[in-house]
Amino acid sequence: MLRTITLTGGAAIPAEQGVQDMQFARRAILTLVAATALIAGRGPSAAAAPELSVVATTGMIADAAREVGGDLVEVQALMGPGVDPHAYRQTRSDIVAASRADLVLWHGLYLEAQLEDFLLDLAARRPVVAVAEGLPRDVLIAHDDYADAKDPHVWMDPALWQQVVRRLRDALIEVHPEGEATFRANAERYIAELRELEGYAANVLASVPPDNRVLLTSHDAFNYFGAAYGFEVIGIQGISTESEAGLKRIAELVDLLVARDIGAVFVETSVSDRNIRALIEGAAAAGHAVEIGGELYSDAMGEPGTYEGTYIGMIDHNATTIARALGGTAPARGMADRLN
Ligand code: ZN
Repeated sequence: MLRTITLTGGAAIPAEQGVQDMQFARRAILTLVAATALIAGRGPSAAAAPELSVVATTGMIADAAREVGGDLVEVQALMGPGVDPHAYRQTRSDIVAASRADLVLWHGLYLEAQLEDFLLDLAARRPVVAVAEGLPRDVLIAHDDYADAKDPHVWMDPALWQQVVRRLRDALIEVHPEGEATFRANAERYIAELRELEGYAANVLASVPPDNRVLLTSHDAFNYFGAAYGFEVIGIQGISTESEAGLKRIAELVDLLVARDIGAVFVETSVSDRNIRALIEGAAAAGHAVEIGGELYSDAMGEPGTYEGTYIGMIDHNATTIARALGGTAPARGMADRLN
């Protein structure tokens, strides 16, 4: 990452003094460049500076952009771990970053409900692509809350996410045709890894006894997961975290836990666990013990720099945690022996 630094202002400098100043300035620039390169983790012999700056809304999209873009792109995610995309509003620095980026990638399908106006407005001036909007309508699950809208949580099915990765690859090619060969090769490699993930998840989830295939979570993020792997999915809140679960809803779900003899429910990293705890207390009062089966990554990934901070790690973690909590078999450290 090289920064352009302007060292001279408008002031006139005497000729001889000017030459010395220029030499000093040149050394200063070289020192700054070297320091910046070191800070960015790139030695002097490392690859050239990225050619394309990309801003992505969610961590999942940013991860895919890094995988497909490789050394040619520098990617910034607006939303970090634990951030709820349904409720997220752009900050001042987000506006600056997105307005300067060569390409802005967002999810669409009304996931980033509070960012939508800003992004649609920006799309009139910059390349802005909603990567999930290109999915065929017939693969999308209807939205419970809005008749003409679709459930946005498509990343929960690695097969659908592969299609989103292809759309993202095409968006990179559109803004940077010189990188086409690289983007295509990287996308093929990454999609092969996603296929492996898809196979692993299918395997471990098929080991869950059929009667136990009920996934109860804080909000309805897992419908695509349920459709892909044959699980019944129940969210306490609706598809958006913005809706409040009422006491009546909690009481209904306590009855369901007891009637169906469900022993584990799941919390999500990006949603408050208040409702899940109310549910567990309600079940206990009714004489039915329910455990927290684990913490799932629903709308955000784990910490950057960790395996769970990647899309593959996120889905590996979810599939492994769900399989093990509901009576199936899966390796404790997941598909690649990398889970913490
Ligand atoms: Zn969600």
